[in-house]
Amino acid sequence: MTSKAYDVVIIGAGIVGSACAAECAREGMSVAIVEGGIIGGGATAAGMGHLVVMDDSEAQFALTRYSQQLWDEISDELPREVEHDVCGTIWIAADDDEMAEALRKQKFYAERGVETEILDAHSLAKTEPNLRPGLVGGLRVPGDSVIYPPCAAQFFVDRALAKDAELFLGKAVESVTADGVRLRDGTFIAAGLVVNSAGSWSPLLTPGLDVKKRKGHLVITDRYPGFLRHQLVELGYLKSAHSVTTDSVAFNIQPRKTGQLLIGSSRQYGIDDAHVDTSILTRMLDRAIEYLPGLRKLSSLRSWTGFRAATPDKLPFIGPHAEQERLYLATGHEGLGITTSVGTAKLLVAQIMNRATPIPVTPYLPTRLAQEPVHA
Ligand SMILES: Cc1cc2nc3c(=O)[nH]c(=O)nc-3n(C[C@H](O)[C@H](O)[C@H](O)COP(=O)(O)OP(=O)(O)OC[C@H]3O[C@@H](n4cnc5c(N)ncnc54)[C@H](O)[C@@H]3O)c2cc1C
Repeated sequence: MTSKAYDVVIIGAGIVGSACAAECAREGMSVAIVEGGIIGGGATAAGMGHLVVMDDSEAQFALTRYSQQLWDEISDELPREVEHDVCGTIWIAADDDEMAEALRKQKFYAERGVETEILDAHSLAKTEPNLRPGLVGGLRVPGDSVIYPPCAAQFFVDRALAKDAELFLGKAVESVTADGVRLRDGTFIAAGLVVNSAGSWSPLLTPGLDVKKRKGHLVITDRYPGFLRHQLVELGYLKSAHSVTTDSVAFNIQPRKTGQLLIGSSRQYGIDDAHVDTSILTRMLDRAIEYLPGLRKLSSLRSWTGFRAATPDKLPFIGPHAEQERLYLATGHEGLGITTSVGTAKLLVAQIMNRATPIPVTPYLPTRLAQEPVHA
């Protein structure tokens, strides 16, 4: 047993756990951060790092928008290695239906105070000259940005450690108990509260939690400064991101501050195996080349996979567990956890401290999906 009892144990130092640890420590709690691997090494290392406002639902919009504002507030404090770059997003419309979707999206954002700009075919080609001819237009969202997520996780851990926090690195949690966590090496860490922020591993520690793995592939190229200016995403991405039954790919590409291009993205359910699947990779790259024919001539350096932690309604679980007193959840962030980590931390801490939450928390409460007991 550790000599000290903590106010809170955070399980997992991905971007979500790290942001929660920093926020708990900032509020004066004593914090133990337990990470079985390395800081920011899970989905956080695999993700694209696109800080993006999304509008699949009002709740998704509220959390992404609030989080983006929090990222903007701390942008001057982020170290250089976080590579924060306010490059903006262009949602690409390939046909009239997708242009109608761009206009709908613009209206939705305008009504909620998000700056956007509609691009016609000519201005799209002028803004991103490497796109193929014949696209109909797009929607530019200038406030979206990009970071390098593992370094952001490290930044949050450092912030926590500068307060009253301790890091248990390379120490996996075996089980959660009523008054703390037991590590695989037998150590017991006593704590008033436990936060399960173990991403796609969270159901292993909290059985019954409806979080499933959703595999994704990414490719990074060599350095080609100036090839792109914005993160580009096809509007068809929304259709593919919603499919929960079939494998899907969509055009999604990001310019890195290094001049590299990060190419996504794919989504697959029901696969545990982390190997790179060349058939999916080929589909993904073919899709990217359809939009940016010049990509064909560029060199890729590496491809990899990662697992998004998906909930049935595509919103994260943030708040107290339905039954286990003193257990809080901060998990299930699917493809938006880099963006929403900072908003999650604020919502979690407000609930722990019994304060009003900065945005309505009901859509993210773990109890929203609690099953009715089944009677024989
Ligand atoms: C291909 C891909 C692209 C993505 N692109 C974006 C994007 O552009 N923008 C965006 O916002 N999001 C994106 N995401 C989603 C984002 O990466 C995740 O939502 C986010 O990283 C989740 O962070 P996390 O801290 O919850 O989980 P993780 O980063 O997986 O962290 C969980 C941590 O818990 C640790 N852990 C697990 N079990 C234990 C245990 N028993 N004891 C101790 N530690 C444990 C793990 O080692 C790990 O470090 C993408 C994801 C993928 C896969």
